[in-house]
Amino acid sequence: MNLVFLGPPGAGKGTQAAVVSQTLKIPHISTGDMFRKAMREGTPTGLKAKAYIDNGQLVPDSVTIEMVAERLAEADCANGYLLDGFPRNLDQAKALEGISKLTAVVDIAVADEKLIARLSGRRVCPKCGGTYHITKLADEKVCPDCGGELIQRDDDNPATIANRLSVYHAQTSPLTEYYAGKGILKQVDGALQMEEVTSQILNALAE
Ligand code: AMP
Repeated sequence: MNLVFLGPPGAGKGTQAAVVSQTLKIPHISTGDMFRKAMREGTPTGLKAKAYIDNGQLVPDSVTIEMVAERLAEADCANGYLLDGFPRNLDQAKALEGISKLTAVVDIAVADEKLIARLSGRRVCPKCGGTYHITKLADEKVCPDCGGELIQRDDDNPATIANRLSVYHAQTSPLTEYYAGKGILKQVDGALQMEEVTSQILNALAE
């Protein structure tokens, strides 16, 4: 299965993609994670991406599309993949069509007010990739899964969150209509409990 998870920042794409990719035994490809790794390692891609990510803007398509095309050409994608955070605009969607044929696109919908609360209280573990919310943590500094140090993402601050949401509404949300027109869009309610969202996704993909 060649899958895309669409949805605003904070919808739970990464959390759901981690579970669903394991269930379906396909690689989880998060462009945000790829950029953050590139920035940590100081690669040319990371250096190009940093200013855009810090501002909550999209990294230019020339950089992003090439990075994804190279990743999808790797052997582990031969039997399918789950893209999380790509495509984020129409040009990226069209470029993806030139590279690969999608089976389904899952749109995880959540209202803006809930997204802001989720993103501003989000903590992540750079060691195991876990994502948590401060309201559910006994200790805000320690990963309950691996004991790693939890951090707040640099772009989870109020100004950058506002930019990311406005970029999403202007550039990414039109993709739901685009994929609906192609008959491959599945919509799920991302405001539900995590496990319920997962089963909605797996049921929609089994249809
Ligand atoms: P995410 O982890 O998906 O929220 O992505 C974090 C940031 O990485 C975004 O706010 C963008 O700056 C950048 N980014 C991730 N995916 C893309 C993409 N497909 N196109 C452009 N920029 C992206």
